[in-house]
Parts: sequence; structure tokens; C-alpha cells
Amino acid sequence: MVEPKVTVYGAYWCPDCRRSKKFLGENFIPYRWVDIEQDKEGEAYVLQRNNGKRIIPTVVFEDNSFLVEPSNAELAKKLGLKTEASKTYYDLIIIGGGPSGLTAAIYASREGADVLLIERSGLGGQAGITVGLDNFPGFPEGISGQEFSDRVTQQARRFGVEILQAVDVEKLEMEEGYHEVYTSDGKHYHSRAVLIATGASYRRLEVPGEDDYIGAGIHFCATCDGPFYKGAKEIVVVGGGNSAVEEGLHLTNFAEKVTLLVRGDKLTATQIAIDKVNEPTSRIEVRYNTIVDAIEGEKSKLKTIKYHYKDSDKMEAIHPAAAFIFIGQTPNTSVLNEFAELDKYGFVLTGHDLKHGGNGKDQFEPLPFETSVSGIFAAGDARHGSTKQVASAVGEGAAASISIREFLRRSG
Ligand SMILES: Cc1cc2nc3c(=O)[nH]c(=O)nc-3n(C[C@H](O)[C@H](O)[C@H](O)COP(=O)(O)OP(=O)(O)OC[C@H]3O[C@@H](n4cnc5c(N)ncnc54)[C@H](O)[C@@H]3O)c2cc1C
Repeated sequence: MVEPKVTVYGAYWCPDCRRSKKFLGENFIPYRWVDIEQDKEGEAYVLQRNNGKRIIPTVVFEDNSFLVEPSNAELAKKLGLKTEASKTYYDLIIIGGGPSGLTAAIYASREGADVLLIERSGLGGQAGITVGLDNFPGFPEGISGQEFSDRVTQQARRFGVEILQAVDVEKLEMEEGYHEVYTSDGKHYHSRAVLIATGASYRRLEVPGEDDYIGAGIHFCATCDGPFYKGAKEIVVVGGGNSAVEEGLHLTNFAEKVTLLVRGDKLTATQIAIDKVNEPTSRIEVRYNTIVDAIEGEKSKLKTIKYHYKDSDKMEAIHPAAAFIFIGQTPNTSVLNEFAELDKYGFVLTGHDLKHGGNGKDQFEPLPFETSVSGIFAAGDARHGSTKQVASAVGEGAAASISIREFLRRSG
């Protein structure tokens, strides 16, 4: 496990502490959490650093410097994350730094295109939070998602890709012959082509209490937050698909027992993963046909998950140390809303999937991976028809960049 370089001193009831933890987690920055309500030494340390004031979060860095109640922008700056581009105009702007975006960046930049890649959280996307990639060709022993992401990022930087982190793209606009990309920090950049490589996000349960305990017992990433529960008696995982089962197996490294609350009557993971759950020594219990109704806490920390069985109205309760929710994903395609054609789930239509080759306003024959807007391309999990795997996201990134090369050539 990577040794944390940052320590966050705070308390469970403190929303700014949660925000700071969320920011660090999303940017894959390992941190140590000290709850000063539980840890008297931690409390004394905070008082000492803040001239007797109990201000939280107090975030202490490797060089012993610290920030008090930092904004996300201050954290990004302190951590050396690049948040502002050096130019305003690029050949290609890639939105999303997961496997598809990073691969497209490597291909395009290596061929001499001027590329800006904008990532709102950690480079590597979903792959970066994957415990282990066992099915990516070329790594016979498997590779951790974090190491894989670091390697691809290094490769992109080697070819001169300019990368922004902790910057969210909020809006796209089309100007004469180029695109404008607006970011959450009030800036905007221009490019001839844009690649949407924004992947997908975890779906929420949308039950009362869920939002209140995110980071305080409710989590969406076992790799990031599982180690906080080392020695726990029980952890709950909600979901019965591949991610839920694999992450549930991983969480048995920390908790004595993992209970899976599964909405359906079977697991829909790979047979290998299901076999592991069914092994006699497995420490996973599966409760099928269960529906989570509410999440409750005490002292701002998760205490209870309330659920019922499909065929009963009787409310049951479970008191885990934490609950990890893995119930599928929603495509991150809001930047394209009312702009390019999406399917009914919000995935981006490209190439042959576009019914009439264009959105009606701007008729043209789209290139492979091109959306209904000329010059805007999509690859990876955000794209309709993608297969939601790292290897295929990488393949789509490469193929999309070849279409983009053709687009840039044609448009002069
Ligand atoms: C827990 C888990 C385990 C998995 N295990 C495996 C496995 O073992 N093998 C396998 O092949 N696949 C696995 N996958 C699937 C694989 O990780 C994905 O298919 C792959 O990462 C998709 O790549 P992508 O680049 O299309 O999207 P993502 O990886 O989702 O990356 C998209 C990136 O875009 C960023 N972004 C989104 N919107 C914006 C915006 N508006 N502005 C700026 N940035 C934005 C996101 O922050 C994200 O970093 C796993 C996924 C998960 C969640």
C-alpha cells in the first residue's frame, strides 16, 4: 500500500473535512485521516498548529507545511496539480483522463498534434481505482489499476500532452470552424477537434441518508477507502454485478465479514468471481432480493442500513462499519446535452450509430467515433456500444485519434 503523504485532521460532522477527503480521494492522493474527536493527540496537534484554535480541516503535507480549511483550488495548487493551460488554442482537446482519453492523447500527440487533456479528478479514470487489472494484455501477473494509470500518464507526458487536473469541463460551444471548451474555473479554451472520453460514474441508491454519509461510512471505491476499515467486523456491499462482487472480495482483506445486499435473485458477475464467493472459506454472505430503503447514522457516522426483502414489508437493519455501493454507472455526458445525439441512457452516438449522419442542422457523413457534431468525437465508456473494459477503452482511444487525424487533415 502507498504510504500517505497527506494527513487530514478533522471530525465526522465537518462538511469541509468531507469535501477535502473527497477531493484527495478523487485525485488518487493517499491520505491519513485523523478524527480529532476520537484522537486526543490529533486534537492537541491541531490546537498547536492553529495557535490554540480548533480549526478543521487542518491538512498537513509531506514537507510539514499545512493548510487550514483549504478550498479545492488551494489543495490542487499545494499538491502541484496543473489546473491552467499554457495556451488557449489546441488542435485537439480531450475531455477525460481515463484509459481512452490518455491513449488518444498519446496517439495524437505522438503524431505532432497539439493536445490538451482536461481531467476533473484522478488520471486513469475508473481504471485508476480498480484494485487489479487481470485482463489487460501484456501483464501476465496482472497490474494494479493505479500503476497502470501512472504508466499511461507518464507515456502521455513523454509525448508532450498538456494535462490539467481537478478541472471540470462544464460546457461546449461551437464557433465558426472550431470548438470552445468552458471549464469550472471560469476559463475557456479553443480547439479544432474535441474528444469526449468522459467515461461513466457510479450510480447512487438515491435513498434517504445516502448523501449525508458519503465519506463517513458510505463509499464508492474499495481501493481508495477499504483500508480505513481494517479490522472491521462487517462491511456491506450493495450490488450483485461484477464490480460489487470483485470489490466485495477485495474488502474481505480488511473486514472479518462482507455482506452483499443484492436486489436480484442471482449474482451477475463473472463465473470466476462467483466461484470465489461460493468457496467454503469465503467470508462473503449474500442476501438476495433485498432493497435498501434508508441509511442512518449516529454522530455523523454511518450506523445502520435499513432494507427489506422483495416479498416482505418487514424492515430489516444491519449495522456495518461501512457500506460500499456498486450498482452500475451513468455516462458522464452532460456536456453534450442538447448538443450532440445521445441514446436513451445518455451514451454518445457516433459513426454508424447515428441514424442520419448528423443532427439535422449540420448534415455530414461522420467519421468513425465522430458524434453528430462535426469535429466532436467520443471514445470509451461514454460512447454508445462501448464494451466497458480497459482494453476496449484503450482501443477506442487509439481508433478515435486516427479518425481525428483524418478530420484535422481534411479541415486543413
Ligand atoms: C471498480 C471497477 C473495476 C473494474 N475492473 C476492470 C477490470 O478488471 N478490467 C477491465 O478491463 N475493466 C475494468 N473496469 C472498467 C474500466 O475501468 C473502464 O471500462 C475504463 O476505465 C473506461 O475508460 P474510459 O477512459 O472510457 O472512462 P473512465 O475510466 O471512466 O474515465 C473517464 C474520465 O473522465 C473524467 N471526466 C468525466 N467528465 C468530465 C468532465 N466534465 N470534465 C473533465 N473530466 C471529466 C472522469 O473523471 C474520468 O477520470 C472496472 C471498472 C470499475 C469501476
